[in-house]
Amino acid sequence: MNLDLDKRAVESYKSSSQRARVLTEAWVNKEAYCPNCGNARLTKYSNNKPVADFFCRSCNEDFELKSKKDSFGAKIVDGDYQAMLKRLADVHNPNFFLLNYDLCSYQVLNFFVIPKHFFVPEIIEERKPLSIDAERAEWIGCNILLSRMPEAGRIFLVKDGQVKPKEDVCAVWQKTLFLREKKKAESRGWILDVMRCIEAVRKKEFTLADIYKFESILFEQHPDNRHIKDKIRQQLQILRDKGYLVFLGKGRYGLA
Ligand SMILES: [Zn+2]
Repeated sequence: MNLDLDKRAVESYKSSSQRARVLTEAWVNKEAYCPNCGNARLTKYSNNKPVADFFCRSCNEDFELKSKKDSFGAKIVDGDYQAMLKRLADVHNPNFFLLNYDLCSYQVLNFFVIPKHFFVPEIIEERKPLSIDAERAEWIGCNILLSRMPEAGRIFLVKDGQVKPKEDVCAVWQKTLFLREKKKAESRGWILDVMRCIEAVRKKEFTLADIYKFESILFEQHPDNRHIKDKIRQQLQILRDKGYLVFLGKGRYGLA
């Protein structure tokens, strides 16, 4: 994977947003592979296709590309809030590629994919409506909260200018595919929240008590649920059944 962006491709474009778009799309077209099946090339959709930007000819996964000069931070500004919520419920929701680059050196710095099964309503934040005077008065946009997403949902192909081995990327992708079996975003939301708790413990082995410590945080996130501990155990069971965790006995767990 070559991290150079091809400046020659954008010489004829005046607007900087257009230049950025063309530059990064051209790079993905040339250098990115499919993290789902490992296919060496992705194909660009024609510009009038609103579904996504790229797809894989071999496994049909769709990918949307978002790129930014600066790093991504805790949230990503996205489009229409209602349209986004509707999209989450759709099986054709694309995976997200996020690319950030340096415009001095014309180099890709970070390039990661968020698999579509990590998109649940909990990570979509409603923005304030635009003011009455704005051209699109009262329009409501959304933010994608990267901070509310488990780290397992950010799979880096390039991190801080270092290319990650393709086998590792594809293996990490496979690890969480079981989430797609949960068709309802709501049940996925619970698993993802418990995955975040497990990551926050920062240990390869942990106990049930370690996760119970997050009870009050989980209650804030799911105020309608009065049985948080039951819910935690249930999610751990699912994660065990799907090979994400192993039970070590006596309330101890390990990452698979
Ligand atoms: Zn593929």
